[in-house]
Amino acid sequence: MTDTPLKLFNSLTRSLEVFEPVHPGEARVYSCGPTVYNYQHIGNMRAYVFADTLGRTLQWKGYKLTHVVNITDVGHLTSDADEGEDKMERMAAREGKSAWDIAKFYQADFEQDLARLNVQPKQHPRATEYVEAMIAWGKSIADKHCYELESGLYFDVSTVADYGRLARAVTEDGEGRIESVEGKRNAADFAIWRKTPAGETRQMEWDSPWGRGAPGWHLECSVMGEALLGFPFDIHTGGIDHREIHHPNEIAQNQAYCCTNGLDDPKNSGAKIWMHNNFLVERSGKMSKSSGEFLRLQLLIDKGYHPLAYRLMCLQAHYRSELEFSWEGLGAALTRLKRMVRAIDKLRGVDAKDATKEALAIVGYDMKFKFHLALSDDLNTPVALTQLERALALKKVSLPAQRALIEEMDSVLGLKLFDLRIEDFRIRPADALIEEREVLAALARRKEARAAKDFAASDAIRDELTAQGVEVMDGDPLGWEWKLG
Ligand code: AMP
Ligand code: ZN
Repeated sequence: MTDTPLKLFNSLTRSLEVFEPVHPGEARVYSCGPTVYNYQHIGNMRAYVFADTLGRTLQWKGYKLTHVVNITDVGHLTSDADEGEDKMERMAAREGKSAWDIAKFYQADFEQDLARLNVQPKQHPRATEYVEAMIAWGKSIADKHCYELESGLYFDVSTVADYGRLARAVTEDGEGRIESVEGKRNAADFAIWRKTPAGETRQMEWDSPWGRGAPGWHLECSVMGEALLGFPFDIHTGGIDHREIHHPNEIAQNQAYCCTNGLDDPKNSGAKIWMHNNFLVERSGKMSKSSGEFLRLQLLIDKGYHPLAYRLMCLQAHYRSELEFSWEGLGAALTRLKRMVRAIDKLRGVDAKDATKEALAIVGYDMKFKFHLALSDDLNTPVALTQLERALALKKVSLPAQRALIEEMDSVLGLKLFDLRIEDFRIRPADALIEEREVLAALARRKEARAAKDFAASDAIRDELTAQGVEVMDGDPLGWEWKLG
């Protein structure tokens, strides 16, 4: 069953391809990471839930996984093309802190969000740790592929074959780009090194053969990918926006560095497969970091939603489909997750190791088979989830074997079903008026009143709780006695 070949959609060839590792038995994956100038919004986090699901699937298929998610702490301008200010420096100036402190703070916050979403630990190299390597890389390609302008060193995209194939963009006029730097040979040319303008100083700057300044944003991913995974590595991931500018530029740098040409063989791009997750969208546009308040995981928690309900929400859509965020949708995912955790109850004291070989072979065979097929078909998590639910609903089967089956499925989906308890879902909204222990005390009094058939007192306690935002849920099928609304 595990032999079902894993097929993944390669954006470079726009087709499904069977995963064949570069190094037998291994999977080496690079995922573009966050720019740590601000909190991550939940759209960004969708990119890491996707990358994590990919990594978990590869591990479950038996590959030894090396997974890098870089931290961009220098060089990313407010536009992905060479325009605007450096995001880090701008935020540092706005908050009156050093750019280094800003990076440290938001990286820690990002890592906290990853843990809350049960994203497995990955390598998180920082761009600032690789500046020397970036300069060395720039030196090695400068003669053949770059030219210097007053503002820095630029990459000439006409020097590599098939520039922009990933984006399916027209090279000539650099579709969708504005020529903002005077003297660029092609509109799509981009900075390898940006010189600090005369009379200015940056908080983050280094000496280089092209003057004091900072690396261009695209360079870091080429350099860290090569240093940590070696070219070609197996899979490169990022959000769909990166398919247009950032990844074509990374690919051009990689081609220049490896002295290879042409993308008919995807390996020449530096990675065999390029994968892109589609966007999480929000109609009001509040997710955008630039528009002030935005949707971050902490906001979901403050409103009383468990973060893993958001992971489930992501898994409910195929990663290549757009996913629209709504509070109703998140609420539905939360209810679904609660039902799953409820269904786990009967398996809590059970040990999967007690399952007999015979039971393992037959219990849930059909759903296990379909689960494999779904994930092998370009990570079809929505279908995989329905198979998990079928497995949870199995009755009159060997409990250790059922537990083994569900543990295996959850090792890929990462919902932590066996760790979650009903109480974990009772997250106190930040604006709640009442403490949990007060609710429990009031409910205990109400129970006594009901036992004594004093229904007037019991109703009065219920009304009091309602006034404080607590919904008392007698007879709730999921067994919840109350919730904060
Ligand atoms: P950034 O910090 O802007 O470099 O983005 C980090 C990651 O999130 C990148 O892979 C982006 O492509 C991805 N991303 C940005 N916005 C969204 C969104 N709304 N939905 C899904 N992924 C996104
Ligand atoms: Zn990148």
